[in-house]
Amino acid sequence: MNEPAADARPKAKAASMTSDAEASLARFAAQKLEALGADKLLRQLRPTQRGGDASAARDGAALISFCDNDYLGLSQHPDVKSAAARAALEYGAGAGASRLVTGDCPLYARLERDLAQMKGCEAALVFGSGYLANISTVPVLAGRGDAVFLDERAHACMFAGAQLSGAAVETFAHNDVDDLRRRLASSNGARKLVLTETVFSMDGDCAPLGDIAAACAQANAWLMTDDAHGFGVVELDNQAHVQMGTLSKAAGAYGGYVCGPRALIELLVNRARGLIYTTGLPPPVLAAAIEALRIMRTQPELAARAMSNARLFSARIGASAPESAIVPLIVGSAEAALAASQTLEAEGFLVTAIRPPTVASGTARLRFSFSAAHMPDDVARLGDAVARRVQAEASS
Ligand SMILES: *Cc1c(COP(=O)(O)O)cnc(C)c1O
Repeated sequence: MNEPAADARPKAKAASMTSDAEASLARFAAQKLEALGADKLLRQLRPTQRGGDASAARDGAALISFCDNDYLGLSQHPDVKSAAARAALEYGAGAGASRLVTGDCPLYARLERDLAQMKGCEAALVFGSGYLANISTVPVLAGRGDAVFLDERAHACMFAGAQLSGAAVETFAHNDVDDLRRRLASSNGARKLVLTETVFSMDGDCAPLGDIAAACAQANAWLMTDDAHGFGVVELDNQAHVQMGTLSKAAGAYGGYVCGPRALIELLVNRARGLIYTTGLPPPVLAAAIEALRIMRTQPELAARAMSNARLFSARIGASAPESAIVPLIVGSAEAALAASQTLEAEGFLVTAIRPPTVASGTARLRFSFSAAHMPDDVARLGDAVARRVQAEASS
């Protein structure tokens, strides 16, 4: 990096500002970081340049990425990139203010119409991200006196939404409909809301949506699903009342959405804090999502290719057939997961270790995600490297 110009350097602080409070803040952070490091749980941002064909350049090495959620390769698709570039020139780089204040960019109406149609719902609402969609929607549906039931492996932002809502929060055992039924029956929540993922982000398995919907119907509970990893890849039969998802994964862009009855969508426009008090998405992002959804609808072979790559890999490592484009390999300790990730990186594969608290303690893993952009030959080489270097070492 170049030296900053002399006048751009931060001014030396006045002695009075290096107070005890500042020193104790630095000490507090350093101690927390040290504890994380001792547990092999420290996380670091690594400069990495993504490119076409799932390439990722890092530290001068050319890697193939098997850890992003760009399942159809659309973040690098030439038509998606030019749609974004054109929108930047036509509408500008940023939104200027929140959708309600500055007026709604015309691209939203088109995107929301497409989403509602693809999901078979009356209406859709696009948020700044999937995280914002979840933390903003759950508190509109439930509050004090109500009860929210989450699958224990649901995403952190569903838990955050449930906690923000002020409702009583219960978790049910992963994909265990009997446990859910028992909890719904013994709850005295005024309204009951059940939250689950369609395709689980760290395990790649699917929720038994039909049985969960039946349990909800029996208990007069609402069902909200998070389709972050299903959308565009694995389309399950989903009767959930509220269908949330993201434009940041298979759609290759950014943003979250909620689809449901029109009245609910209008209520969210009036009540969802993560829509009202945050700036709208940049127009290039909206245009990219619109184009990505068009490709998703017209080229189903992309999803088929991602799935066939996942199947090829699973067969190669002797794992059972995958239910989605995500294949986990649980190695146990955070340290073992880091070591396995480093081994694969040395062979040219980028597969980040997934550690607690993202997954439960003792279940640190490599999470392989497959894309239409992967070449089957590379997938087979990865499978062989995992069998030879990771599985062989784990069992020795
Ligand atoms: C990634 C993810 C989100 C958050 O979506 P963003 O658009 O990245 O904010 C929500 N839920 C699940 C299950 C996810 O995997």
